[in-house]
Amino acid sequence: MRIVVVGGGISGLAAAQRLVERGAEVVLVEQGSRLGGKLHTTEIAGGPVELGAEAFAVRDPQGNPSAAIELVNAVGLADSLVYPAIGKAALAVDGQLRPMPAGTLMGVPGDLDALDGVAAAAPERDHDGGRPLLGPEEDTGVGVLVRRRLGDEVADRLVDPMLGGVYAGRADHLSLAVTMPALAATARREHTLVGAVRAALAARPASSGPIFGTIVGGVGRLVSAVADRLGGVDLRLGLPVRSITPAGAGWQVTVGSTRDPETIACDAVVLATPATPAARLLAEVAPGASTLVGTLDYASVALVTLALPEVELPELSGLLVPATEGYAVKAATFFDRKWAHMRRPGVTLVRTSLGRYGDERVLQRSDPELVDLAHAELGQLLGRPLPAPIESRVQRWGGALPQYAPGHLERVASARASVPATVALAGAAYDGVGIPACVRSGWVAADRVLEGLTS
Ligand SMILES: Cc1cc2nc3c(=O)[nH]c(=O)nc-3n(C[C@H](O)[C@H](O)[C@H](O)COP(=O)(O)OP(=O)(O)OC[C@H]3O[C@@H](n4cnc5c(N)ncnc54)[C@H](O)[C@@H]3O)c2cc1C
Repeated sequence: MRIVVVGGGISGLAAAQRLVERGAEVVLVEQGSRLGGKLHTTEIAGGPVELGAEAFAVRDPQGNPSAAIELVNAVGLADSLVYPAIGKAALAVDGQLRPMPAGTLMGVPGDLDALDGVAAAAPERDHDGGRPLLGPEEDTGVGVLVRRRLGDEVADRLVDPMLGGVYAGRADHLSLAVTMPALAATARREHTLVGAVRAALAARPASSGPIFGTIVGGVGRLVSAVADRLGGVDLRLGLPVRSITPAGAGWQVTVGSTRDPETIACDAVVLATPATPAARLLAEVAPGASTLVGTLDYASVALVTLALPEVELPELSGLLVPATEGYAVKAATFFDRKWAHMRRPGVTLVRTSLGRYGDERVLQRSDPELVDLAHAELGQLLGRPLPAPIESRVQRWGGALPQYAPGHLERVASARASVPATVALAGAAYDGVGIPACVRSGWVAADRVLEGLTS
């Protein structure tokens, strides 16, 4: 029973790990020269720095340990788990850094009195006709709903930067059902948005403690630890998968360059790539699914990490900048304030993020121009010029973050339903961008093909 896993990001690695545990023969094919995909730790100013994801949620929505924590435990890294020293970020509005108002869900307020002038909310009436905010199967753009109920300022100043910080997307275009499932659930019962937020907050499992965690030394250690436990897996790095075609009861996977292609015969395939390559590879496997998967759009971002000579920063984990403030920088993480293990003498580490879905012109600039821009804007946001960086690094992520449009869940369900039982889809394109969702999707995909092979 040979199974090919396409894509060596955290989703593909989780799938391979599960398949190996279940005794399958696994070939993992990754087009890049390293494993991990958007998990990539490097060294800057004498210590580890994340070029992609920096942390993961430690609990699932039910309050149980998240799939990322399960994976961390399974690969023996529990002792290396650390939590933020500061969890509080600020909003940059009207030339000031203002605390994020309390009692919000991704910026959607549950208490309009707590907004404290950060955004003016339109008074909310009960929903027309006495119906709940959302119909039973209905989905909507988060920003569209917030704008309609509470006005533009709440959407633009609070919700858009919070969602933009995760998806590099615009709140108006992002599905409520996917990005805020708890709020979507209460919006199907409640008549006001504020009421729906309160109900969603009240339904949260009681838990204290940090929401996010990471690994000392970087998330790259998680990638290595998973890879180290893939004994027996045929690991093929630097080889793009070019096509998947039916062959008898199984599949023929073609890898490598057009000039020198190689084929791998297998019984099942886990496709753990982003949507664009997945859609291409599904063309001969399930054309309907290929079209559905191919509709998913992506935002591109650039992360500019600045190692500055030590400077005083506010006691914050970072800041979020609403698009309406007119900066190219949309967020900044004060790495060594947020993570005690990243502190190093004489250096202040800040990572800025640039690029928003639908407005990615800023990414056409050269790396030195992006460094200058990020450095100058960070100084403006902090209200004082900053010393020149000792070291800097620009990491571009083209097609980085999926933009789940309303109706995404139905499209994914239809795509999965039309894919043969010995092919499974995993990754951020389907079930959520967070590392736990990706890990879980890899495990579920592995189980699905194993079941498909035995049934
Ligand atoms: C800048 C940034 C910051 C983030 N921060 C966080 C965070 O702090 N916390 C969090 O939980 N999440 C974060 N995320 C999201 C999270 O990192 C990703 O959603 C997740 O890592 C995606 O994993 P994946 O395996 O599904 O996809 P990827 O990591 O994209 O891996 C897919 C792999 O498939 C390979 N591939 C593509 N096509 C082919 C082909 N034809 N043949 C072979 N291989 C192929 C690619 O080279 C890649 O290695 C962040 C994402 C970005 C971009």
